[in-house]
Formats: sequence, structure tokens, C-alpha cells
Amino acid sequence: MHEENEKDLIKAGYKKYKSEEIDVFFHAGKCTHAANCIKYLPSTFNMNRKPWVEPSASLHEDVKRVIATCPSNALHFIEHKSF
Ligand code: SF4
Repeated sequence: MHEENEKDLIKAGYKKYKSEEIDVFFHAGKCTHAANCIKYLPSTFNMNRKPWVEPSASLHEDVKRVIATCPSNALHFIEHKSF
């Protein structure tokens, strides 16, 4: 899984997309457009929407599962443990 420290991700150039249960971090420069995220979880990852990442639009377990399939390291998440 790709759970990381938020400060390090922001410093590395990741953009944060937040929700109550899970925050998603995306690095456009690392994305190889393999499209796993869009194909497997279009409710959360949708290039035709702004913002294109909406973590709360899917079950956070599904968000984690799909982020794990990203081949380029462009996606990470931080889960809020209070949930
Ligand atoms: S799965 Fe990863 S590499 Fe593929 S489009 Fe999504 S962010 Fe980019």
C-alpha cells in the first residue's frame, strides 16, 4: 500500500484531494496514464470532472484498493484513523 506522510508528499509535488475518511494525493508528473484508476473506480477518478479526484465518492476501501494498482507511484493515500 502507499500510505505516506503528508508533509513529504506535498514537498515531493503531490496535490491533496481530501475527504473525511481518506485523503488522496496525486502527482501529475509521475502519472503514466495507465488509466487503472479511471477504469476501476470512475466514481472517484474522473478526468472530465473538476476536481478530477473525489475521494468521498467511493467507499474508502475501494479507493485504497485502486490506488494500490497504480503502476507509476502517482497516487497515494492517508486514511483518517478516527473512522
Ligand atoms: S492509475 Fe496511476 S498512472 Fe494510471 S492514470 Fe491513474 S494515477 Fe495515472
